[in-house]
Amino acid sequence: MATLPLDILGLAAHRDDAEQTCGGTLLKMAQRGYRTGILDLTQGEMGTRGTADDRAREAAEAARILQASWRAALDIPDGRVENTWDNRLKVARVIRETRPRVLILPYWKGRHPDHYTASILGYEACFLAGLGKLDLGAAPHRPFKIIYATLYYDVRPTFIVDISDQFETRFQSLMAYKSQYQDQAAGSELFPAQAEIRARVEAMARHYGLLAGVTYGEPFLQKEIGLVEDLTLIPVASI
Ligand SMILES: [Zn+2]
Repeated sequence: MATLPLDILGLAAHRDDAEQTCGGTLLKMAQRGYRTGILDLTQGEMGTRGTADDRAREAAEAARILQASWRAALDIPDGRVENTWDNRLKVARVIRETRPRVLILPYWKGRHPDHYTASILGYEACFLAGLGKLDLGAAPHRPFKIIYATLYYDVRPTFIVDISDQFETRFQSLMAYKSQYQDQAAGSELFPAQAEIRARVEAMARHYGLLAGVTYGEPFLQKEIGLVEDLTLIPVASI
């Protein structure tokens, strides 16, 4: 595939998770000329609204809006993301095929078991993907950097990506999931109306933007320490 290897891959449990947690960042990187991709572990067959086919079409449209060069969904059962050997191999194969320098994983704690399991599964798959003696049909590869998208969990991020210029487009990518987000009767007890979603998404982006002194932000956490070359270039005002 001409779009491979990727510079940045976002891995998420469900279609629309990447749009919600790191979509602005993926778009920003694509606008800078990097090749970005999204791997969804599941296909959304357990969703209250729409079918897996609806969600596949919507995911493709969302990827187009975010200017992602690559998107795929594995066949791990929706609502049953488990950190098994087979699933680790499936993800490791994708890591080797797409060869990202940076991998975005969900944060490793959360309300939805699929989300935190996807985090551990993704990390362990990266480890496997680098093992030279593991034959998966593509050359070994590990991402240089793994960062965690923390939007779904109340934890202090270690850095924010300024998505002020990407916020509106990122919101449009979420609205591409028409079967999920358009005002309609089916499952209306579960799903807030579009205006409510907009208010919620904007409040979160504002909150994280405020932490970094910008309008809209997306939160991330890295396990490693930060490295600084020039003290005068450290962003975010202290006082
Ligand atoms: Zn999800």
